[in-house]
Amino acid sequence: MKKPLIMTPGPTYVNEEVRRALSREITNPDLDLEFYEFYKETCNRIKKLLKTENDVLILSGEGILGLEAACASLIEPGDRVLVIDNGIFGSGFGDFVKMYGGEVEVFQSDYERAIDVERLEAFLEKDHDFKLATLVHCETPSGITNPVDKICPLLKKYGILSVVDSVSAVGGESLQTDEWQMDMVLGGSQKVLSAPPGLTFLSISEAAWDKVLNRKAPITGYYCNLSVWKDWYSKKWFPYTQPISDIYALRAAVDILFKDDKALERHKNIAEAVRKSLTAAGLKLYPKDGYSNTVTTFMVPEGTVFKDIYEEMLKEQGVMIAGAFGFLKEKVIRIGHMGENCYEEKIYITLKALDETLRKLRVDLKAELHRVFIENI
Ligand SMILES: *Cc1c(COP(=O)(O)O)cnc(C)c1O
Repeated sequence: MKKPLIMTPGPTYVNEEVRRALSREITNPDLDLEFYEFYKETCNRIKKLLKTENDVLILSGEGILGLEAACASLIEPGDRVLVIDNGIFGSGFGDFVKMYGGEVEVFQSDYERAIDVERLEAFLEKDHDFKLATLVHCETPSGITNPVDKICPLLKKYGILSVVDSVSAVGGESLQTDEWQMDMVLGGSQKVLSAPPGLTFLSISEAAWDKVLNRKAPITGYYCNLSVWKDWYSKKWFPYTQPISDIYALRAAVDILFKDDKALERHKNIAEAVRKSLTAAGLKLYPKDGYSNTVTTFMVPEGTVFKDIYEEMLKEQGVMIAGAFGFLKEKVIRIGHMGENCYEEKIYITLKALDETLRKLRVDLKAELHRVFIENI
């Protein structure tokens, strides 16, 4: 059977060049000094992507590892942590904070909109005694991108460290780590970068290092302990054997992304045209503002159920789209348009398949999805 076109918001399509990098002959990454240089240069390229001079690390584990490592390494029992929450990942961050002994204070913002910065500002005026705040750049399930450019400098004004989950945004949304004073930025291999799942990368500021290295309580755990990484390069010592093939693939993926100096523009244009297409046909987007450039979330049309749409798309049209989970389960459909999936041709095929699927399921579409897309791209 022909493989379906995977149009989910991660994992994304993995380019042949990246797959070939996976099959490169390996060396012993602990002993081969050239590998330390390769790892460092890969980190340097990620620094460029994140627009930062801060240290960058690559950790052996899927995106969630970054979230947990940040919490494990920064939080000491009893620390007050502000959890900025307008969605499933934002709220989930609170669970990691609690797991490592933090005292959670949730700032909740409308789940259908980007975080309300004015309300956050008013909140912080009254209460700002937090060691750190967690927040999510792109809430992937709801398709909302948050104004981290405004939030992180605001937190910094009160001396609060920011830990930003940018897993589904980095590479597809504007991101200026240093200019926006972001202390930790977390990314994953399988979203915009379009490498196989399995790696986290993160940037960490001097201020964050200072908290990690000068704690009263020791850090619980080893894989999530960032302090073991402090001198890896000068000592030529990795805390554990590196997944060298995954790192070769990540590097190839970063290099592909860099070849397109208009990647951000491409994401923005495609996302806009997708939204125009869906709304022109009478479908309803889930968010009311803060639309993401990497994923579009829209409501399952009345009179249909998610499962029918998903199966028809997959089995008859050969296109895999996504639903969501948590409170959005069965309610929404998501099209990922990030990295390797963010190309006109693939989106055209996806929207044409969706158009045929919905018509077959007797949804009354007011326009042809793929046609409106092409007119607007
Ligand atoms: C994908 C993603 C992660 C990584 O988590 P998985 O669900 O395990 O892939 C973390 N945060 C966000 C916002 C993500 O989109």
